[in-house]
Amino acid sequence: GSMIPSGRRYASTASNFDTPDVPVEKYEYQAEVSRLMDLIVNSLYSNKEVFLRELISNASDALDKLRFLSNEIITLTDSGIGMTHEELVDSLGTIAHSGTAMFLTALKESKDAGTDSNLIGQFGVGFYSAFLVADKVVVTTRSPKSDKQYVWEGEANSCSYIVREETDPEKLIPRGTSIKLYLKRDDKGFAHPERIERLVKNYSQFVSFPIYTWQEKG
Ligand code: ADP
Ligand code: MG
Repeated sequence: GSMIPSGRRYASTASNFDTPDVPVEKYEYQAEVSRLMDLIVNSLYSNKEVFLRELISNASDALDKLRFLSNEIITLTDSGIGMTHEELVDSLGTIAHSGTAMFLTALKESKDAGTDSNLIGQFGVGFYSAFLVADKVVVTTRSPKSDKQYVWEGEANSCSYIVREETDPEKLIPRGTSIKLYLKRDDKGFAHPERIERLVKNYSQFVSFPIYTWQEKG
């Protein structure tokens, strides 16, 4: 059948492959592939075991590629004071104390990156640093002052955010805040537990509450 163009379908019925009910497509290998298969079968027959290594390696690659596609998430959960609806909109949608202008001036004046990162904390805009590594941030929060729980959702480079009441009973928490960071493509490395643990040790060692880290298997 060398007249049949390789990689093209040339029959849609006959076959001894076991796929019932649907039309079977039959293809011819590219000539090189046929030759290569012959070669492999006839020269590697004394080392058949490699088949398992090769196929497992492909499966592992496939899982790697899927992981790269999937969104790595860092979640920070606390059982603190939480936020009411009003506090949520006030805190994560506005900047009090005319901070923005001063912050931007200070930022422009500072030349080195070391100073930049301190400025964020000083000017009361720490929350927005989440967008350094996340392209989406979801805050779920419940204040003891409110009988409702709210979800705040914001995206990097967006002029707006959304707030909604959490209505899924399975997602209700007694009190506190949970912040989900959907890591940017280039920052997925932050999701590695060792990295998180190192950063917590380096930057948050004087926090007077216990900080627990864990990894969710996906
Ligand atoms: P700052 O901490 O200097 O006030 P941030 O940008 O870090 O500035 O936070 C803004 C505000 O958002 C906080 O003052 C607080 O009211 C609210 N907030 C942020 N994170 C939390 C949290 N985990 N629990 C309760 N409130 C929070
Ligand atoms: Mg802060």
